[in-house]
Amino acid sequence: MAEFTTPKWRDHLFSVVIVGAGPAGMMLAFCLAKMGVNPLIIDNALASEHEWGRGDGMQFRTLEVLRNLGLYDDLEKQSLKVATMSQWAITENPTVRHVTNFAAGDMDIEEKYGLTIRQGIIEKILDKGFEELSPGNKVHRPWSFQDAWIEDRSDPNSLVNVTLRSQYGETRQIRTRYLVGCDGGKSQVRRTLRDRYGVMFEGSPHDSAWGAVDILEPRTNFPDIKRVW
Ligand SMILES: Cc1cc2nc3c(=O)[nH]c(=O)nc-3n(C[C@H](O)[C@H](O)[C@H](O)COP(=O)(O)OP(=O)(O)OC[C@H]3O[C@@H](n4cnc5c(N)ncnc54)[C@H](O)[C@@H]3O)c2cc1C
Repeated sequence: MAEFTTPKWRDHLFSVVIVGAGPAGMMLAFCLAKMGVNPLIIDNALASEHEWGRGDGMQFRTLEVLRNLGLYDDLEKQSLKVATMSQWAITENPTVRHVTNFAAGDMDIEEKYGLTIRQGIIEKILDKGFEELSPGNKVHRPWSFQDAWIEDRSDPNSLVNVTLRSQYGETRQIRTRYLVGCDGGKSQVRRTLRDRYGVMFEGSPHDSAWGAVDILEPRTNFPDIKRVW
């Protein structure tokens, strides 16, 4: 198996390249750094953190994993604990009805609650954890994944060639042993695998829309409004 240099942007040869610095990409980066592997991480967004929107709740199973990784204390300080959750659905009856209300307490794990916490804060905690484990390494922005191809498909140790482009128009060609697509639901890495190598992925987009809303003292008779989370 080929030996690789310590990843540095100028080397153009990396052991692992991660496309996307969202929760999935940063969790992978963090775990690799814990094992002494320093990946190259790129993201096409300028900002390192979502200021609003997206996730706002963490399940207790996720918390268990984060606790084992030593990331829990920072999370706990910046979040609210939640032991019950209410949900509603629109039924054939046009009224919106209360569907479920469950507690985490009956499961055989240490965490007996979930947390409400903005996704941007989670991303920040993962960024910080990664940078502490891998000093000098950070997410390179705003670099966008463009294309990738395997140098020699008959060789299982073959390197992957990757084309990246910055938002300022600069293009770079790098090589890596592993390329990991953590670039979200519309993954360009996944599309490239499909178009170049016919690698298909199971599943299909969900036909539903989600929203996260901050409401200040709503005046409503909606049932259980204070128990959404
Ligand atoms: C409204 C809403 C509410 C949600 N609520 C919750 C919740 O309460 N709890 C929960 O656990 N989850 C929730 N989710 C889901 C959660 O947000 C996602 O599961 C999570 O963001 C997925 O993480 P990811 O790292 O896979 O992808 P993403 O978060 O989508 O990150 C992908 C990253 O890749 C980058 N990228 C994309 N394309 C490229 C490219 N070509 N080159 C380089 N970089 C690229 C993007 O800039 C981004 O930073 C919610 C989602 C939404 C939209």
